[in-house]
Amino acid sequence: MSKEKFDAIVVGAGMSGNAAAYTMASRGLKVLQLERGEYPGSKNVQGAILYANMLETIIPDFRDDAPLERHLIEQRFWLMDDTSHTGVHYRSDDFNEPTPNRYTIIRAQFDKWFSRKVREAGATVLCETTATELVLDGGGKVIGVRTDRAGETIHAEVVVLAEGVNGLLGTRAGFRKVPKPEAVALAVKEMHFLPEEVIGERFGLTGDQGCVIEAAGTISRGMAGLGFLYTNKESVSLGIGCLVSDFAATVESPYTLLDAFKDHPSIRPLLAGSEVKEYAAHLIPEGGYKAIPQLFGNGWVVVGDAGQLNNAVHREGSNLAMTSGRIAGEAISMIKSQGCPMAPENLSLYKAMLDKSFVVKDLKKYKDMPALLHTNSRNFFMTYPQLLSKAAQNFVRVDGTPKIEKEKATTAAFVKARSRWGLFSDAVRLALAWR
Ligand SMILES: Cc1cc2nc3c(=O)[nH]c(=O)nc-3n(C[C@H](O)[C@H](O)[C@H](O)COP(=O)(O)OP(=O)(O)OC[C@H]3O[C@@H](n4cnc5c(N)ncnc54)[C@H](O)[C@@H]3O)c2cc1C
Repeated sequence: MSKEKFDAIVVGAGMSGNAAAYTMASRGLKVLQLERGEYPGSKNVQGAILYANMLETIIPDFRDDAPLERHLIEQRFWLMDDTSHTGVHYRSDDFNEPTPNRYTIIRAQFDKWFSRKVREAGATVLCETTATELVLDGGGKVIGVRTDRAGETIHAEVVVLAEGVNGLLGTRAGFRKVPKPEAVALAVKEMHFLPEEVIGERFGLTGDQGCVIEAAGTISRGMAGLGFLYTNKESVSLGIGCLVSDFAATVESPYTLLDAFKDHPSIRPLLAGSEVKEYAAHLIPEGGYKAIPQLFGNGWVVVGDAGQLNNAVHREGSNLAMTSGRIAGEAISMIKSQGCPMAPENLSLYKAMLDKSFVVKDLKKYKDMPALLHTNSRNFFMTYPQLLSKAAQNFVRVDGTPKIEKEKATTAAFVKARSRWGLFSDAVRLALAWR
C-alpha cells in the first residue's frame, strides 16, 4: 500500500467522506478512503433525518436499496416549560409523494450501505485505520497521510479531510483551530425500541410514515440547546444537545437533561413501555458561517463537519456534509481531468462552487443567529417559553375572568419579565438575525 500512489485519499467514511469518495471514484479517479471505525458508521451519531434531495444528486436511485426507516409527513415544533408544550405542527399528505423529501435513518446501517456504494464505484476502503498525520513535502504541499498501521505513509495528489467535527488531522497540521466551546454543542441520544404498530398509533402514522418533534425551552435549563424525537420503524430516537461552553459554565450534565426530557409529561407517554438499547454522545458544529475555517490549501480540502458546515438553525448537517463532499469530489475530478496540479489556486474551485451552493448561502443568511441565541440564551430558552406557556394557558382556561383582564394579565407578565424595551430589542435582534 505504501508504494502505491492515489489520486485522492479521503479521511473518514461519514456522510461527507462517502459523498466525496463516491463522486471521485465514479469519475474514474483512484481513491483510497480511510475510516478509523470497525465499519463505516460505527463511530457516527445523527438524529437522524436524511434529506433526500442531496443524496439523490449523488445516487439518483438510492431509494431502491438504501436502509430507510420512515418518510416524514409531520413536523412538530414545541416550546416547552416544565409541565407543558406550546406547539406548531405541520402535517401534509403532500409528503406521501412517490419520492419523499425526508426520511429517518439509522446511521450505523446507512453508512454501511453508502460505503458499499463507494466500493462498487471503485474506491478502496480501509476500516480500522486511523490517519494519524498529514505528510507534507519541503514546499508545504500535502502529499499523503501517515496511518496507525505501523506508521505507514500513503501518498496521494490530494487529501480530502472528511474527519468530522473534531478535525484532529487538520488541527494538528495548523490548517484550522480547535473549535471554540461556544461553537460546538454536545448532544446525547438514546434509541427507545417499541413495536411498529405502537409507534403508528401514538403518532397517528400508517405504513412507513414518520413524525419528528423538535423542542426548545426549559428542557435546556436556560442554556442554548434543543431536544428532538424522531420516529424510526421500530424505535424512537430521542436526544438533547447544548453548547459546550454552556455545559462548562453550569453544573448541568447532558445525562441529567436527557433524563428530565424523557420524564417530561409531554414526552413520557410517547416512550411508555419502550426498551432503551443504544446510547450515544457526539459534538455538533454550531458556530455557523463565522466559524468556517480555511477550506482548501496546497494538496488538501476540508468537507462536512470538519469545515463547520452545519446549519444549526435548521438542524441540517448531513445534507451540507454530503453536498460539500460531492462538490469537493467534482472540483478535484475537474482539476485532474485538466491535468492541473492540486495547488491552492486550482483547489479554490471547490470553494467557489461551494459558495454558489445552498451550503454557504444558508450559513451566510444566518450568520448572526448563533451569537444572538448563544448570548441571550436564558431569554430565548427559559423566559419566553415560560411566558408563552402562561399566555396559552390563560387563553384556553375558562374561569369567569373577563377576557380583557386576561389579555392585560398576559401583557403585564411579558413586560414584567423583559420590560417594553427588552421585548422590543429582542424582537428587533431576532428579526435582523433572521432576515
Ligand atoms: C445527536 C445528533 C443529531 C443529529 N441530527 C441530524 C439530523 O437529523 N439531520 C442531519 O442532517 N444532521 C444531523 N446531525 C449532524 C450530522 O450528523 C453531521 O452533520 C454529519 O454526520 C457530518 O458528516 P461528516 O461526514 O462531516 O462527519 P461524520 O459523520 O462525523 O464522519 C466523520 C468520519 O471520520 C472518521 N474519522 C475521524 N477521524 C479519522 C481519522 N483520523 N482517520 C480515519 N477516520 C477518521 C470517523 O470515524 C467518522 O466515521 C446530527 C448530529 C448529532 C450529533
